[in-house]
Amino acid sequence: MLNLILFGPPGSGKGTQAENIIAKYGILHISTGDMFRYELSNNTELGQLAKSYMDKGELVPDSVTIAMLEKRVNENPDAKGIIFDGFPRTVAQAEALDALLASKGTEITTLLSLEVPTEELVARLLNRGHSSGRADDKDESIIRNRISVYHGDTKPVFDYYDEKRKAISIQGVGSIDDIFCSIQEQLDPLV
Ligand code: AMP
Repeated sequence: MLNLILFGPPGSGKGTQAENIIAKYGILHISTGDMFRYELSNNTELGQLAKSYMDKGELVPDSVTIAMLEKRVNENPDAKGIIFDGFPRTVAQAEALDALLASKGTEITTLLSLEVPTEELVARLLNRGHSSGRADDKDESIIRNRISVYHGDTKPVFDYYDEKRKAISIQGVGSIDDIFCSIQEQLDPLV
């Protein structure tokens, strides 16, 4: 199984590259951000809870996020691999993910981290805010908070997998095609 974590700060291109990866490698895409937005669009209790954090650029609590993720993985026993997009965002989430996969006799194959300078991220997200309708992309102070949450809470997830020699950094600036070429160079030997 190819179990991939697509990692990087908000605006680093994870969603875009996830689409390319799914198209080529045929693995299941799980984006916790998309799942929360889906819950919100259906006005569920979970959606309302998530919104109270998303609107501020904060992380939804681990207990809620991990339970939602585990449910989705358990619903897809036949997946030939999974791309985790926007998860794990804390070391506790990473530990829960590793335990879940171990209970199924599998593990994370690799973590690919898209590296993009902060000012480029802010510019990309403000630009996306004009077209996406995402409330958390419209306000520069919320964008900057999401980036600082990334550095404080999420970056340690890179170190966690780096210690296991599973973390790889990829230059996330350039054309979408060039960045996908760098991703394929890493993934092709693994499949
Ligand atoms: P994203 O679409 O991945 O940028 O996520 C949008 C927002 O959803 C984040 O700013 C968080 O508020 C929430 N979120 C998504 N994934 C997670 C996660 N793994 N842990 C906690 N909060 C998350």
